[in-house]
Amino acid sequence: MAEIRRVIAINLAFAALLASAAAGQTSSPSPTGLSRFEFAQAHMGTQFRIVLYARDAEIAAKASTAAFERIARLDATMSDYRETSELMMACKQATRRWVRLSPDLFRILARSQQMARRSGGAFDVTVGPVVRLWRRARRMNALPDAEKLAVARQQVGYRWLRLDARRQAMRLERSGMRIDLGGIAKGYAADAALAVLKAHGVSIALIAAGGDIVAGQPPPGSNGWTVAVRGLSSTDEATMIHLRLANAAVSTSGDAEQFVEIDGARYSHIIDPRTGQALTIRRSVTVVALNGTASDALATAASVLGAARGRRLIDHTPGAAAHIEQMRGDRLLVSESKHWREIPQTPAR
Ligand code: ADP
Ligand code: MG
Repeated sequence: MAEIRRVIAINLAFAALLASAAAGQTSSPSPTGLSRFEFAQAHMGTQFRIVLYARDAEIAAKASTAAFERIARLDATMSDYRETSELMMACKQATRRWVRLSPDLFRILARSQQMARRSGGAFDVTVGPVVRLWRRARRMNALPDAEKLAVARQQVGYRWLRLDARRQAMRLERSGMRIDLGGIAKGYAADAALAVLKAHGVSIALIAAGGDIVAGQPPPGSNGWTVAVRGLSSTDEATMIHLRLANAAVSTSGDAEQFVEIDGARYSHIIDPRTGQALTIRRSVTVVALNGTASDALATAASVLGAARGRRLIDHTPGAAAHIEQMRGDRLLVSESKHWREIPQTPAR
């Protein structure tokens, strides 16, 4: 049982497995005097789960409460669902003048722009106007209007988003631009939450936010947290990929959860910013990286780039590795980056 509980499954279907241990102490103290605690809260449209080891319930509750508060504040800063978030207010003003940003917003935009350049625009947070049309398409079960899509595409382009490090400010050079941090914010928030836990003296911790997972120091007596990743062909736990992670992050992007099917084609929530089209290829990308901000953005970027170019991007990223699955007809194609095999994997049980 203890072993099963150590498995944090990425897929929502497996969230139920852990639901019974949603809050509070879940094990008696280990020889180190540390007990395992688990907490969950909904933020950024997903469930954030924190698993940590602490000496007592008070320390665990205090640390996790502070971590969730940090996540909630980041959500309020970066949300594109709330018109009053700092990000949405800044987008409205930044087409006319330079707008000063909070340290978090500036930092995540700087990381986003770096990934945009490195991926040749496959990852692009200015994709907002197009994402909006596809979100509506998913709701209405109908493809976006071609004319509207053409207009929205004109408002997308990371080169029109300018950042000034000295002034900590941003400017948008096209009217109608809208930034969407959905491809990177959960990883950033999980990193920030881990930092808060550490500041409270809790360094043995894991934070899972949907498909983005950040791991700190390993649990007592082990060399890592076991993380189960669902691939395209996984039907149950036994067919999932089991990784052992410590002081690293893993993200999965793909069509597993959010998509719409229209006329037999499956449209993902990931957009190719260069065409304005939602991805239709069945592809699942799992990226391990040094932190959640990197793994989250890399997984989205590689989903757009595809196996060959995605692998190249990952191979050129220190500390990163990827496992990419793709369907061609009925065939499952699996491709691994150079360093994938160096990540400890536990056999499924
Ligand atoms: P998930 O939200 O399932 O973890 P991702 O991390 O791949 O998946 O993020 C997908 C989200 O990122 C979309 O819902 C959208 O908000 C945004 N997005 C879509 N396409 C891109 C892209 N090419 N570059 C950056 N962000 C994107
Ligand atoms: Mg992502």
